Amino acid sequence: QKCLSLIKKTKFLNAYITVSEEVALKQAEESEERYKKGHSLGDLDGIPVAVKDNFSTSGIETTCASNMLKGYVPPYNATVVQKLLDQGALLMGKTNLDEFAMGSGSTDGVFGPVKNPWSYSKQYREKRKQKPHGENEETNWLITGGSSGGSAAAVSAFTCFAALGSDTGGSTRNPAAHCGVVGLKPSYGLVSRHGLIPLVNSMDVPGILTRCVDDAATVLGVLAGHDCKDSTTVQDPVKSFILPSLTDVSKLCIGIPKEYLVPELSSEVQSLWSKAAKLFESEGAKVIEVSLPHTSYSIVCYHVLCTSEVASNMARFDGLEYGHRCDINVSTEAMYAATRREGFNDVVRGRILSGNFFLLKENYENYFIKAQKVRRLIANDFVNVFNSGVDVLLTPTTLSEAVPYVEFIKEDNRTRSAQGDIFTQAVNMAGLPAVSVPMALSNQGLPIGLQFIGRAFCDQQLLTVAKWFE
Ligand code: GLN
Repeated sequence: QKCLSLIKKTKFLNAYITVSEEVALKQAEESEERYKKGHSLGDLDGIPVAVKDNFSTSGIETTCASNMLKGYVPPYNATVVQKLLDQGALLMGKTNLDEFAMGSGSTDGVFGPVKNPWSYSKQYREKRKQKPHGENEETNWLITGGSSGGSAAAVSAFTCFAALGSDTGGSTRNPAAHCGVVGLKPSYGLVSRHGLIPLVNSMDVPGILTRCVDDAATVLGVLAGHDCKDSTTVQDPVKSFILPSLTDVSKLCIGIPKEYLVPELSSEVQSLWSKAAKLFESEGAKVIEVSLPHTSYSIVCYHVLCTSEVASNMARFDGLEYGHRCDINVSTEAMYAATRREGFNDVVRGRILSGNFFLLKENYENYFIKAQKVRRLIANDFVNVFNSGVDVLLTPTTLSEAVPYVEFIKEDNRTRSAQGDIFTQAVNMAGLPAVSVPMALSNQGLPIGLQFIGRAFCDQQLLTVAKWFE
């Protein structure tokens, strides 16, 4: 009840696309019943959770914040959604995002941008000398980051305890950093993608947003494991993710990638990053500078691979099978074209065009194949560093704190999305686990997060270090 009333109170944040009030109340009653009757309880029994609107939910509209899927009601639950429900979680609703999760602001969906709850914090307002204001003021509010901005805002505004995001190039970690919550991208293959509407199949991972690292570990424990409906998931049984309390970090080796010190990095984030490194050092950990020499190619490489997979993925939206269909019927081709023009925004259309260009017969070798080779070099950079004895890498999550919406939309949205993901995209190309943890408030009173990156399938170790740090 409390979470539902907070959802209503914070409606102006635009964090939710659909609020599934009736479903949540019914699930809460059932949970209460289980408790009263002394039945065994699930790991998340009675816990309110929210789900990004690119995960299929049986009987509940799933839009990807796109005209293309407005009104589409899936007949089944994504595996991760089903797993949450099987453990007794209450589904509060579906959260807002950039259209088809393409973006890093949560500003580009058809339901409008998500507002960062920190825009309304007392501290931020006092620093900016703004009068306390109501919910209607339209100036100066900050973006949440994205594309899982709705999920990050939902957790940050206390409307749920955990939310699912998706992470293809940073979409869980980036909004987590901007909204002051924990954002976990698990190892590729640890968590099923079945029912997550794909963006880039070879990089997509369901993400977890929570208020603390222990909560993220609990949810990961519920979600992780083999799924016969996703052939890329692990075969081996997954152990639970109950985190030990680390008291001694002196055996840890923390790597600081020198290529991540980019000129665009804000001085405040940079100084918090070195402060964190010093903290580990003062507690006895070994902190060393390491090199990921192919970092400078990662944005371009991601772009070629992402758009190529997008072009192929988006072919399923043709007006016949799902969602929107225009009423032009002169020919099938004309119907396809008009449906796709009406259904997709310009970011999605732009990526389909780029991707199809890279996949043309005459470009395929030169772009797509080459990018795949570069991807391997980028992934090997991480392998080499971990083989040299480094346990986790410590990096910033974002270039700066959250920026006002009016600033963010000034730049072309394609460049915007690319540059901001510099610290997060390579991790997806390498399939590694990474987590963004809130570190401190900036001078403006806004949260800044730092990222830990771990060895593939060492999610437990990664979270244990993150828990020590938080
Ligand atoms: N910003 C990146 C993109 O637009 C990442 C998106 C994501 O992780 N879903 O491709």
